[in-house]
Amino acid sequence: MAIKINNKFVGAHTSASGGVFNAILNAQEIGAKAFALFTKNQKRWDAKPLDAKTLDTWFNTLEKSGIQAKHILPHDSYLINLGNPDEQKLIKSRMAFIDELERCDILGLDKLNFHPGSHLVKLSVKDKKDTELVTKIENNCLDLIAESINIALDKTKNVKAVMENTAGQGTNLGYKFEHLAYIIDKIEDKSRIGVCIDTCHMFTAGYDIRTRETYDETWGNFDELIGSKYLMGMHINDSKPSLGSRVDRHHSLGKGEIGLDAFRFIMNDERMDDIPLILETIDSSIWKQEIELLYSFVK
Ligand SMILES: [Zn+2]
Ligand SMILES: [Zn+2]
Repeated sequence: MAIKINNKFVGAHTSASGGVFNAILNAQEIGAKAFALFTKNQKRWDAKPLDAKTLDTWFNTLEKSGIQAKHILPHDSYLINLGNPDEQKLIKSRMAFIDELERCDILGLDKLNFHPGSHLVKLSVKDKKDTELVTKIENNCLDLIAESINIALDKTKNVKAVMENTAGQGTNLGYKFEHLAYIIDKIEDKSRIGVCIDTCHMFTAGYDIRTRETYDETWGNFDELIGSKYLMGMHINDSKPSLGSRVDRHHSLGKGEIGLDAFRFIMNDERMDDIPLILETIDSSIWKQEIELLYSFVK
């Protein structure tokens, strides 16, 4: 008789309000085996250092929870733009990113999830059609992002920088697998770079995963351009906007444009073994049911 081995670690981005340790307690409450959190207020630049008492509670709570550090995927602040063309703002972002990596290290975590960056160049409708110009602007920004990551990795230790794919809204980069591959190629220490694939972002960026055929094609494309050894986390979201809309709006599983089959494929795909699979769906009151639903898909 075959033994059903379940090597999937599903959770959600839980609230760390009142202290980072609360993210663990909130994860336990919904039956999560993984979780994501902000280690500081994501809408502010500054944060006070983690004090001894907080750290004590964090490590005690984590041990009791049974959740492993490798299944925790902290997310950095939304203010950070590692590709900011303004020099002063770029310096500020790089410093904040280094601080976030250090906070993860202090918490005993080995990954930091971040969005690559935005070029912020205002392009006219005519400019947008000039593919050569757009590629040049995008590549300049990707170079800057890679430089930012290299600096940050050089100044920190242990923690891996895990880039998230984006929907490609506004001037955000990272909506093509090619962007992520371009950055990885320029990273000096490849043992500390990885990617997190958000299913909503992937879908609205134009990668279909709704059928067996399209799912296999998209992930085949991923394997070819990036490689599954770099896949270090996933955000499990359905999507309100349609395929290729380049709009970032998450939805509850099965209620959006992606539908449930894609999540069935993920729960039975070895590429997603042993990495944090994090819900960022819009209704946190049903996360517990969504986690149960995902585990029910395991064959
Ligand atoms: Zn994100
Ligand atoms: Zn995400």
